[in-house]
Amino acid sequence: MGAVRGQPSVAIVGGGFGGIGAAVMLRREGYDDITVFERSERIGGVWQANTYPGIACDVPSHLYEFSFAPNPDWSRRYAPGAEIQAYMEDVARRYGVLERVRLGTEVERATFDEDRGRWVLETSAGTHEADVLVTACGQLSVPSIPPIPGLDEFEGPAFHTAEWRDDVELDGKRVAVIGTGCSTIQTAPAIQSKVAQLDIYQRSPGWTIPKMDFEYSKRAKWLFRRFPILQRLDRALIFGFMELATAAVTSQRWLGRPFRAIGNRQITSVIDDPELRAKVTPEDEIGCKRMMLTDDWYRTLTEPNVELVVDGIDAVTPHGVRTANGAERPADVLVLGTGFKSQGFVAPMEIAGRGGRTLTEAWAGVPKAYLGATVPGFPNMFLLYGPNTNGGAGSVIHTLECGMAHALAAIKKLEQTGAGTIELRPDAAAAFDRELRAALADTVWQTGCTSWYVDEAGNNPNNWPWLWSTYRRRTAEVDPQAYELA
Ligand SMILES: Cc1cc2nc3c(=O)[nH]c(=O)nc-3n(C[C@H](O)[C@H](O)[C@H](O)COP(=O)(O)OP(=O)(O)OC[C@H]3O[C@@H](n4cnc5c(N)ncnc54)[C@H](O)[C@@H]3O)c2cc1C
Repeated sequence: MGAVRGQPSVAIVGGGFGGIGAAVMLRREGYDDITVFERSERIGGVWQANTYPGIACDVPSHLYEFSFAPNPDWSRRYAPGAEIQAYMEDVARRYGVLERVRLGTEVERATFDEDRGRWVLETSAGTHEADVLVTACGQLSVPSIPPIPGLDEFEGPAFHTAEWRDDVELDGKRVAVIGTGCSTIQTAPAIQSKVAQLDIYQRSPGWTIPKMDFEYSKRAKWLFRRFPILQRLDRALIFGFMELATAAVTSQRWLGRPFRAIGNRQITSVIDDPELRAKVTPEDEIGCKRMMLTDDWYRTLTEPNVELVVDGIDAVTPHGVRTANGAERPADVLVLGTGFKSQGFVAPMEIAGRGGRTLTEAWAGVPKAYLGATVPGFPNMFLLYGPNTNGGAGSVIHTLECGMAHALAAIKKLEQTGAGTIELRPDAAAAFDRELRAALADTVWQTGCTSWYVDEAGNNPNNWPWLWSTYRRRTAEVDPQAYELA
């Protein structure tokens, strides 16, 4: 097998914050031979796909942005989705990444050619080869459609929040929304005043805390532009708060108590009706499901044209939704706020490493990766936002940058040593996995609620059980004991 000659070529799968950020970070380090594959017709990832009314980030924008591209012009503390999409496109343009993106091109399979030490990608537009493979497919890029009987027979428009239909007029319509996760609590307040009736079907409530969103004044934006240190300071404060919230759901669970008190207060300060209060007050521990941020969800639920239905869905009928108690509520439009297939990671792409062994086979039902990034038997491959890199709090963009810093450190090792491959040692993978499982066992996510983190067997392949500063520290370098160069 030959060594990588000169600069390694890099193929990146996915054109969201992960893929675009990876390409920019490579460009900033002087790498040129970069190709990003994106199956959609536009970059942006979740921000390109999710255009539902009310969409915005739920981590303040001064942390939910690239550290190397601070934007002093965010209109609000929590920027709306369209602004985030425009920001990503602007960053991609400024760093010469847009011309390296192949839009409308899905990578169907990536195979490691052991003889030549190269990755061979089979895409919807032909084959492509590269020395290094970076996957940035997201954890929330494939909508989950629940197997509700009758869904296909609904006669009106029915769509997922991630596939919002702007052509469907909601004014004066009876709208049924299924699910009460992060997307619904953003979109329900945004559409409530225009629809005739809004029925929201809830399986189990999640804890919320106030978002405290506000518009940035012209003066504030000027100050952030004129004195960038102010924005950096704000970023550091937000990061510190997120670390506190992360500790509350992982190693310092007692810190969850004030969050729970704040969540309770948010409910009781808005809702007087004891029956509605009971419906929205979770029994789970706070943070077991993702903690949600909102300023207007509970107010929306008290509006006369809104009904929170908790009876459990029996079936969707051609003209509405039938609940377990036999009642049928009519609907003209059906919105599925039912989340994403969060545990496929690179799916449906198939990746084959040494000996033709696929990642699906290597994972055997429980996705795992060292620091969420590397897997033994898959040389020169790096996963971004891979297994166990999601969190109960914190910015995924920060996580993606850390993952990419790790990949960059490894790519530089290849260059410096003239080696052909860098590969995780199986013993390092096993030791990390033991450490991870032990830490996960103590987290709030394992306390028995339903969430998108924990599978039916009780495994949590999604979340990182430590602080984000720990992730940053551990991904900054490649540990020579953990990796083998050949
Ligand atoms: C509505 C919504 C709001 C969110 N808000 C926040 C927030 O406020 N804060 C936060 O930290 N996180 C938030 N997230 C999480 C979000 O997933 C991350 O912040 C981040 O955008 C992930 O970026 P990514 O590039 O890893 O993945 P994605 O944005 O999911 O992008 C992955 C891309 O890869 C492409 N792709 C996948 N497989 C292939 C293939 N085989 N071939 C070609 N292309 C492929 C997909 O089409 C997609 O464009 C939110 C998620 C959603 C859905």
